[in-house]
Amino acid sequence: MFPLKLIVFIALVSIVFAGPWGQICAGNPSNKVRGCDIKGCGNYGAPRKSRDGTIRRHLGVDVVCNDGSTVYAPFSGTIERQVIPYKINNAINNGILLRGSGFCVKMFYIKPVKYQGQIAKGNKIGVMLPMQRVYPRITSHVHIENCNKSDPTGNL
Ligand SMILES: [Zn+2]
Repeated sequence: MFPLKLIVFIALVSIVFAGPWGQICAGNPSNKVRGCDIKGCGNYGAPRKSRDGTIRRHLGVDVVCNDGSTVYAPFSGTIERQVIPYKINNAINNGILLRGSGFCVKMFYIKPVKYQGQIAKGNKIGVMLPMQRVYPRITSHVHIENCNKSDPTGNL
């Protein structure tokens, strides 16, 4: 059993360090970021190997989310349009652009509730698509990136 003072301290620290965005995926209240797995790492700036062998950078952050989980709007804003991550279609090739509250993000690998219109922070914005079907044994995740490609980690 932890001493109460320690629990209070940890709670305060997690509030101080939590960013302005709300919970993104059901089952992941702390917006835990994908670590490293067979397909790579989920942090901003992680290396990604392209088809042609060149190394590029992961310019978003991957928030852990089990397939089929409810995904929430991280802030209040307007869904402007659909955005699709891949040129070659697959089962997780869907997403949206959300703008508002001083933020603009693209969220990938979700089946959104709609492709246009307003949404409030914490409301259901979509459902996590079946990533395991496309990348078996990966840590399933919502990819979220700032529209200007800056590091969104501090907003989580
Ligand atoms: Zn990603």
